[in-house]
Amino acid sequence: MEIATKCPICESLGNSVPVYPSNVDEQSFSTEVFSARRLPDRRHYQWVRCKACTLLRSDPVLDVDLEKLYVESSFDYSTEIDGLKKTYLKLVNKATKGKSFSKSIFEVGGGNGFFLEAAKDAKFALVAGVEPSTEAISAARADIKPFMIASMMKGGVLKDRSFEVGTMFHTLDHLSDPVTTLKHCFDALEPGGVFVVAVHNERSWSARLMGERSPIIDVEHTHLYTLKSGGALFKKIGFIGVRSGAYNNHYSLAYILHLIPISRSFRKRVLESPIGTLLGKIKVVVPLGNMWVAGTKP
Ligand SMILES: [Zn+2]
Repeated sequence: MEIATKCPICESLGNSVPVYPSNVDEQSFSTEVFSARRLPDRRHYQWVRCKACTLLRSDPVLDVDLEKLYVESSFDYSTEIDGLKKTYLKLVNKATKGKSFSKSIFEVGGGNGFFLEAAKDAKFALVAGVEPSTEAISAARADIKPFMIASMMKGGVLKDRSFEVGTMFHTLDHLSDPVTTLKHCFDALEPGGVFVVAVHNERSWSARLMGERSPIIDVEHTHLYTLKSGGALFKKIGFIGVRSGAYNNHYSLAYILHLIPISRSFRKRVLESPIGTLLGKIKVVVPLGNMWVAGTKP
């Protein structure tokens, strides 16, 4: 069944212009499609742009139980984890600049908790992860696993007003109701606490260049943000001092190949060959069209 979606920022139904037509069928919803960093296959719903706030959203969507798919999704990370740890720690430092947080941090949708490992190793005494995939949690480091909660982020999953920092890396743009999820994250923060998300920037040069061929135009993404609409969303939740910016990733050349819009079987062949292994070892810093948004709880 098709469901019309409304803009989470403006709360309007319709009031949008079509951007890309749908190419989704029933098969698009296997658990393989929903595993976190799979080879992109570029299935997507119709994308529309909100006339009022410019937010890009999937509309309409099919009646699919996302929670069930994410719970069952398998987990496949590979060689990029060290780069991602470095990238995300830098973002947290940027977002919390001038504050001496070291007590507590939570993450929503963090897979096997690799970022929480980095946060704990860097300075945070208490870490907590909220992650629906039980397979991902089972792969968490032994000292992190007891602090992972197998759930979507809902009210009461984390104690209210109990964390200095909250994080959500490349999860926000997968949520069907980002406002409600962000409100629960807001509630878990102490007054003065900082929340930071990383998402794709759909107005970045790479997204503009690739258009519909961009891996971000995908059925997994319910909304795609810009610096402007990301900031507007944070303000709607009640965050103050909202700030945002672009960030660079530390990736291997293998990962970059995986993102390029060329034949899926060709990419698979190269990535599984000795050349793929070599490409996996070459790390580069790349502006891939990602952005961060942060805000402070009053
Ligand atoms: Zn809107």
